[in-house]
Amino acid sequence: MNSTKKVIIIGSGPAGLTAAIYAARADLSPVVFEGVQPGGQLTITTDVENYPGFPDGVMGPELMDSFRKQAQKFGAETYFKNVDKVDLSQRPFKVFVGEEEYSSDCLIIATGASAKLLGLDSESKLMGYGVSACATCDAFFFKDKEVLVVGGGDSAMEEATYLTKFASKVTLVHRRDKFRASKIMQDRVLSNEKIEVMWNSEIIEMLGDPSRKGLESVMVRNTVNGDEYEHKCDGVFLGIGHRPNSDLFKDSLELNSSGYIETKADSTETSIKGVYAAGDIQDHVYKQAITAAGSGCMAAIEAERFLESS
Ligand code: NAP
Repeated sequence: MNSTKKVIIIGSGPAGLTAAIYAARADLSPVVFEGVQPGGQLTITTDVENYPGFPDGVMGPELMDSFRKQAQKFGAETYFKNVDKVDLSQRPFKVFVGEEEYSSDCLIIATGASAKLLGLDSESKLMGYGVSACATCDAFFFKDKEVLVVGGGDSAMEEATYLTKFASKVTLVHRRDKFRASKIMQDRVLSNEKIEVMWNSEIIEMLGDPSRKGLESVMVRNTVNGDEYEHKCDGVFLGIGHRPNSDLFKDSLELNSSGYIETKADSTETSIKGVYAAGDIQDHVYKQAITAAGSGCMAAIEAERFLESS
């Protein structure tokens, strides 16, 4: 592993592993550092119904295992390792994994995005003790319990609907009087008799003791009239979107104001030649597995052309 690699890929969601499949088939012997969430965000979902080629749907973790196997079949090396630092000041680029140092002629960044939190101290204190950002991971623990889901987008709708399989009651807490979710997902929520909506409401405090029962209630504020009241519940699920995992690159690459890596129009090329960004780390518009996979493919083809011409 000490010689300079042609391509190192950081991240292993649909973007990173598609880049690995294409780069491996182009004989670039890519090395993939899978990161803290191998397989990416799809590994914490259940049914994926909108990935083409699976008319009956496919489980997220299963889909990502297939991506990985396909990349390995063509010679990609994949490691369950996390990159802590990069040096993009000159080629070959350097990538650090703990004490280990690697170098590469090209870099494909596919580090994706992570769930956003409300930012309350009580939320971090109770995370894992009644508070969660992943219904598909934790819903099982809330059998016959009452839970809240925060948010008004597709993530919140999906989490609320999924939670009804376990919880006795699900209340969506949304800060406005209108959802931004797609109509089909809204309809699913609004016609589900286990789901109630608390419009114009925000959670301002979570109450409970992690060493005892965990979360027991939340303080809610009405965003229109400012009224505050306590609402008893057993769980809170955050479904308020995601933030790009771009901290590693903030001093070396151009990012937009929300922290997404900037790429050139119709390309995955970043502000540094030979460094490409694919998937949710650069896409703040579509954020779909299929678009991530598409941009991973673009990144590998661009890397191949760059290596041929340099
Ligand atoms: P999103 O569309 O950005 O929605 C985030 C929601 O959380 C909004 O309703 C927002 O409220 C609310 N929110 C944000 N910050 C908040 C805060 N601090 N306190 C309270 N509420 C807050 O994010 P998303 O739902 O994760 O969806 C992102 C993208 O992925 C979308 O393109 C979506 O279509 C896609 N997606 C698709 C599926 C699917 O098709 N199966 C599933 C999940 C996501 P406001 O509305 O007031 O801004």
